[in-house]
Amino acid sequence: GGTVRFENVRFSYDAGREILKGVSFEVPAGRTVAIVGPSGAGKSTLSRLLFRFYDVSSGRITIDGQDIREVRQESLRAAIGMVPQDTVLFNDTVAYNIRYGRPNASEAEVEEAARLAQIDGFIRATPKGYRTEVGERGLKLSGGEKQRVAIARTILKAPPILVLDEATSALDSHTEKEIQDALDRVSEGRTTLVIAHRLSTVVAADEILVFADGRVAERGCHAELLARG
Ligand code: ADP
Ligand code: ADP
Repeated sequence: GGTVRFENVRFSYDAGREILKGVSFEVPAGRTVAIVGPSGAGKSTLSRLLFRFYDVSSGRITIDGQDIREVRQESLRAAIGMVPQDTVLFNDTVAYNIRYGRPNASEAEVEEAARLAQIDGFIRATPKGYRTEVGERGLKLSGGEKQRVAIARTILKAPPILVLDEATSALDSHTEKEIQDALDRVSEGRTTLVIAHRLSTVVAADEILVFADGRVAERGCHAELLARG
């Protein structure tokens, strides 16, 4: 299971401007759909609606045919994992931060998740003189390392549905490649919605939706969109 559908979704944050102006698409179970488009187009708003941080103004969002407004909040949280662009970590060990995805996971499972996300080198060791805590006075993690902690957390949680808010070009290209590989690994076989900033990072998506002004302006696979310019 895990098919996500947006059906003619309209949304305004307040009485003001309409941010989504009738958005429809489906992410079939196990498939990957990417959303690209300029900043401010409403891409992140889609993930906030899926998590029910806000409810749609009209239309509906369903998971396996069920309106998400009828799904218990805990079930929704269990079903959807998010790898945000900028992860806020708890001031504790990296291992603790990974385990937050599934508190009853075994030590071996935490280590396996860390390995897949390529952060097993420092889940509790103190490389480069680092301390083991994460935070202001503890372990200093780069943006890329923090994002890999979020990826490891999501690998451990193993939700059927994933929302990936892609890394920006703020990362160096080597780090970006490593993160991309880790994200590919976690999304394998899961229903995945990728919020991307560039077409070039979503070559493998089953479908790409180009957002503009709160609407799906174009859709197709990577080759089709390139051919259309
Ligand atoms: P994107 O992810 O495509 O950059 P967003 O979904 O973050 O776009 O934002 C779409 C629009 O909604 C933007 O114009 C933004 O300023 C506005 N917006 C985002 N969050 C809020 C909010 N909490 N209240 C009001 N407007 C918001
Ligand atoms: P953001 O940087 O987008 O604000 P948060 O700090 O809210 O992210 O979330 C931290 C982590 O908690 C995320 O990596 C995500 O896995 C998880 N998370 C946050 N909100 C939800 C939610 N509503 N459902 C499921 N997981 C969530």
